Amino acid sequence: MGKGKFPVEKLLAIQTPFYYYDAEVLRQTLRTINEEAGKHDGFVVHYAVKANANPKILRIIREAGMGADCVSGGEIEASVKAGFPNNKIVYAGVGKADWEINLGLDNDIFCFNVESIPELEVINELAAAKNKVARVAFRLNPNVGAHTHANITTGLAENKFGIAMRDMLDVIAEAEKLPNVQFVGLHFHIGSQILDMGDFEALCNRVNELQKILDSHRIRAEHINVGGGLGVDYGHPNRLPIPDFKSYFDTYAKKLKLRPGQTLHFELGRAMVAQCGSLITRTLYIKKGDVKKFAIVDAGFPDLIRPALYQAYHKIENITSEEPKDTYDVVGPICESTDVFAKQIDLNGTHRGDLLAIRSAGAYGEIMASQYNCRKLPIGYMSDDL
Ligand SMILES: *Cc1c(COP(=O)(O)O)cnc(C)c1O
Repeated sequence: MGKGKFPVEKLLAIQTPFYYYDAEVLRQTLRTINEEAGKHDGFVVHYAVKANANPKILRIIREAGMGADCVSGGEIEASVKAGFPNNKIVYAGVGKADWEINLGLDNDIFCFNVESIPELEVINELAAAKNKVARVAFRLNPNVGAHTHANITTGLAENKFGIAMRDMLDVIAEAEKLPNVQFVGLHFHIGSQILDMGDFEALCNRVNELQKILDSHRIRAEHINVGGGLGVDYGHPNRLPIPDFKSYFDTYAKKLKLRPGQTLHFELGRAMVAQCGSLITRTLYIKKGDVKKFAIVDAGFPDLIRPALYQAYHKIENITSEEPKDTYDVVGPICESTDVFAKQIDLNGTHRGDLLAIRSAGAYGEIMASQYNCRKLPIGYMSDDL
């Protein structure tokens, strides 16, 4: 990999900014996931569509045999269109609208991940109107903290997600009473960009405690879904393009005690797609300030909001210059002080017209883009198609 992997001549001919997806990196990532998850009985991997719903990305992931984890009706539609089988689509979300629930019912999806009793009652009602029985899992809030950015921690008692653990038996009992829902599993998701396997271990311990309670009431969940959250190395997209899936799956295999016949489901987003993508932007101007050099580029935070939203670091490379390094602030054209991709970073000597690759932009890049300032949404190109 490395800079040589970019087809620079072809990229130079494309209108910037745009997303560039390396299909080989994506396929290699998916092969590694299948290899590592495949070592353990009953492991089932879904893709969290919210990380990137580009149809070309979805098609490659579907071809690798993954299921789809959706958090909206639009994502269910995108998954069905990309050819994901209905029985591999799950639907989670703290606020499901009636039309979205109906869409899930019409497509006979694998499971609704339910986050409250009022929601359970509405699903039961809507399913009854269609003479169907909806399969439901309960999303429990495990009160497990992930050592990551506060805005992407979801599994603490203070977060809006999920049902409190103490209510587990009550909600399952409620589901047993309702004729048009069937309890099939438990669902968890503790956060994102998690690199400390200890966080996943803490979740395993919590699941084990809850399963003991279920055992004592002779309740059996068909499946346990532990969500996603595995992080990637934003600092070294060339050296470490494939996340450490071995440690991730091995942790669950070692720590989480499955019951006979039970399956363990995963919903990976970022770890599947982050490293295959780059935001390619053209340098418009080099501005020399009193103390700094600014590389002003034609991409801005509407095209990749993570640096502005989470102070996230993305490695940036000049893919068209071989000149000795110099130090720059890389900034966009938007009239907001937060429109900065990186401060005081070393780039090969950069001039007007040079292409910069903002790396690890495959997850939560294109999908979070906006048209702020009446800008056009950038196009996503797959390396296969260039
Ligand atoms: C966001 C989300 C995921 C994926 O998270 P990543 O950190 O991208 O792996 C999985 N499951 C649920 C319920 C989510 O909300």
